[in-house]
Amino acid sequence: MQAVRIHAGGGPEVLVTESVETPQPKAGEVLVRLRAAALNHRDIWIRMGRQPQPLPLILGSDGAGTVEAVGEAVTMAAIGDEVIINPTLSCGVCQFCAMGEHSLCDQFQILGGPRAGTYADYVCIPEANVVKKPAPLSWEEAAALPLAGLTAYRMMVTRAQVRVGESVAILGIGGGVATFAMQIAKRAGARVLVTSSSDEKLERARSLGADETINYRSQDWAAEVKRLTDGLGADVVVETVASGTWDQSLAAVRRGGRIVTCGATGGNDVQYNHRPLFWKQVTVLGSTMGTRSEFTGLAALADQGGIRPIVDKVFPLADAAHAHERMEEQGQFGKIVLRIY
Ligand code: ZN
Repeated sequence: MQAVRIHAGGGPEVLVTESVETPQPKAGEVLVRLRAAALNHRDIWIRMGRQPQPLPLILGSDGAGTVEAVGEAVTMAAIGDEVIINPTLSCGVCQFCAMGEHSLCDQFQILGGPRAGTYADYVCIPEANVVKKPAPLSWEEAAALPLAGLTAYRMMVTRAQVRVGESVAILGIGGGVATFAMQIAKRAGARVLVTSSSDEKLERARSLGADETINYRSQDWAAEVKRLTDGLGADVVVETVASGTWDQSLAAVRRGGRIVTCGATGGNDVQYNHRPLFWKQVTVLGSTMGTRSEFTGLAALADQGGIRPIVDKVFPLADAAHAHERMEEQGQFGKIVLRIY
């Protein structure tokens, strides 16, 4: 099969399209013939060598395709099933897995490092990791759903528990997680305020349902959030930057409100003033990926038309390097997708 692998860390040029042996499903696994894959920031960090992995490695956490073969003891999936792939790999037997908390698993991993990922014609994956493809979605949209969609679903539904009538401020609209978080919050009946440095992205967000848009380059975004919420602040702030934004997030959240965070694109060392956190009695909710039941919930939501992945641009698989360049330029709105068939 054709696959895009890295043999060393570096720039987009280290992504090599080459012929590799087609994997065979072990007991409990299925072989998926991929139709599309999608990019995540994690792919870029692994490509750069910032998250060292055994090499060579096929990158990619997100994918959608058709079950082509099944291993022994597979009971839930069948040849010909059209599926999306849950990229979270958990042991299934530890105390957290036993509670259904798969993203807290002792041996939690994400597909695409160290396990061979989705930048390929085929991928092998445990049968528990495939779920029926939501009917309304194209292959490109289906591939764009899993990782960012699951991350946003757990943040908004399980962790922040966003309710009808609440206000939700989302930092940096345009990325995959932020655009899914916006759609899920809207679906929950919340009023959504989004920030960006790009007026173009803000305009796009408004056309997709954002109620208020704030350009953080030309405006004090935390003050704007307060002004737009009658001086109260947002019930929920969705934080993915952290370094350089945390003080403003604490200013933008209402007294007794929640900040939910799944990442730190600004860097892991965060300096902030601690006082508003306890004085305003703010709840900080950490979140990573999600559970199997949350993935099923996400797929059901997409199946009912409740969310639709935004696809920024589609590249052929062999053009993965240009797709990575597009992502590193940070100009995208929604997900960057690789078309495989
Ligand atoms: Zn486990």
